[in-house]
Amino acid sequence: MSKPTLGNPQNTIEILQKYNFSFQKKFGQNFLIDTHVLDKIIRAANITKEDMVLEIGPGIGTMTQYLAEAAGKVIAVEIDKNLIPILSDTLSEYDNVTIINEDVLKLDIQNLANEENEGKPIKVVANLPYYITTPIIMGLFENHVPVESITVMVQKEVADRMQTGPGSKDYGALSLAVQYYAEPYIVANVPPNCFMPRPKVGSAVIRLTCHEKPPVEVKDERLMFDIIRASFNQRRKTLANGLKNSDRITCSKEAITEAIEQLGRGASVRGEALTLEEFAVLSNELWNSMQSERSESI
Ligand code: SAM
Repeated sequence: MSKPTLGNPQNTIEILQKYNFSFQKKFGQNFLIDTHVLDKIIRAANITKEDMVLEIGPGIGTMTQYLAEAAGKVIAVEIDKNLIPILSDTLSEYDNVTIINEDVLKLDIQNLANEENEGKPIKVVANLPYYITTPIIMGLFENHVPVESITVMVQKEVADRMQTGPGSKDYGALSLAVQYYAEPYIVANVPPNCFMPRPKVGSAVIRLTCHEKPPVEVKDERLMFDIIRASFNQRRKTLANGLKNSDRITCSKEAITEAIEQLGRGASVRGEALTLEEFAVLSNELWNSMQSERSESI
């Protein structure tokens, strides 16, 4: 194995010129050109030779070189076919890297983890294409892909939304979904000059350490997330009105009022004040009401 050759502006420019590569804005291409940031990501991800790492969007292979040094096996999924010959070049020294030319959102990652890592949890590490951050992360969680941790570069505002709790303007459905599945930790803020080309927004590295078991028990996960979405869709409405207006919550208005009263928060509480634990209690109450209303109507 050799030392990484990429991660600085000169070598990146050299490779881009060698292959006459043009950046594609639609693919969210902002390549890392800072070795300190790369070292920090690798350290935060706690990778060992026992690990299989999935990298989403390897670009020209900068972070892939670092991952290949640290991990047992790296699978990197890149949508842009123009990057494939470049990756064959920059990763030619590494025999533990597989490149898949595919849209990650169309890939069966569950199957990949089962086949390539015998179903053992994998680690996901990436400088994500920002335009699909939420579908990528929620896809991993909701499809119950065996994942130990997700260490990713995302837009700074999105990292803040993932980590925050009630009372903050950033708190919302994404915060609750992420915190149901994982423990978030912001590793570093990263300024635009660490990328080529520079993004218009600030970035942050966040590590999501996946829970073995969610921190709250819910009878129906989908119902809880429907309730969460309904509460935040109409942020300026009270929780009661948000839920009564949702066609996903089928129980009577009285049952909704009663379930909210059980929280002891007063009738005018807004969804943004509730913790994950309270959403779980509310969802279990509404689930019970929906079950009994359904059996009454039969
Ligand atoms: N990892 C590289 C680095 O840090 O320099 C590149 C990161 S760049 C922010 C995002 C990468 O994701 C690009 O290489 C882009 O082509 C790729 N990408 C964008 N959409 C994708 C998708 N749907 N599936 C797989 N890769 C994608």
